[in-house]
Amino acid sequence: MEEKTKKEMAEAVIAAGQRMLESNLTVETWGNISVRTEEGIICITPSGMSYQEITPGDLVFLDPEGKVCEGSRIPSIETQMHVKIYQNRPDVYAILHTHPVASTVFGVLRKPIPVITDEIAQAIGGEISVADYALPGTVLLAENTVKALGEKNACLLANHGAVCVGKDLNACFKATIVLETSAEIYQKALAVSGCEPVELKEDDVKAMYDFAQNHYGQRERR
Ligand code: 13P
Ligand code: ZN
Repeated sequence: MEEKTKKEMAEAVIAAGQRMLESNLTVETWGNISVRTEEGIICITPSGMSYQEITPGDLVFLDPEGKVCEGSRIPSIETQMHVKIYQNRPDVYAILHTHPVASTVFGVLRKPIPVITDEIAQAIGGEISVADYALPGTVLLAENTVKALGEKNACLLANHGAVCVGKDLNACFKATIVLETSAEIYQKALAVSGCEPVELKEDDVKAMYDFAQNHYGQRERR
């Protein structure tokens, strides 16, 4: 792999680690981040290292099966989760695993977050399911996560945190922030007695997801 590509991947992952910590989407060394190339080479965070101290040499490069091809550090314990997501989702080029507070409330309750905001429809593409519980770092957790994610861009991990995926790390942050703010909204809506939060209709969700992915924002004016 080209040195330039490797450097760019490492820099993107390091910046994302700092952003994750500064945005209070995790604490200490929890969470993990990866990006992959078109050929399937994965660049992933080292296990248990401070996001403020990681330098490019600390990142680990893996082949598409998850075998270390470069780097001296021990990769994230959730390496199998990242590898299996990439194997099942050819549209995914970046993964952000966080431990955000409001989202994890629903992971603890093991209660999915329905499509209760337009932003969930646009950035995530459907209900946010909760992956069945499995110990951190296990193949079972990796399999449960792939199942809960389906074709969507986010899922919760029971009693643990969140996983968001996308075409790049910016898309992952967008999904994570949408998930976290929508979890706060859902928690508040559920607390209003005598009322039930209203879910959006499936057709509207599909239309909004398609619009957000393919037409929203700045592009050629016709
Ligand atoms: P790593 O530091 O090994 O990535 O583990 C953190 C974590 O969040 C495990 O789920
Ligand atoms: Zn975790």
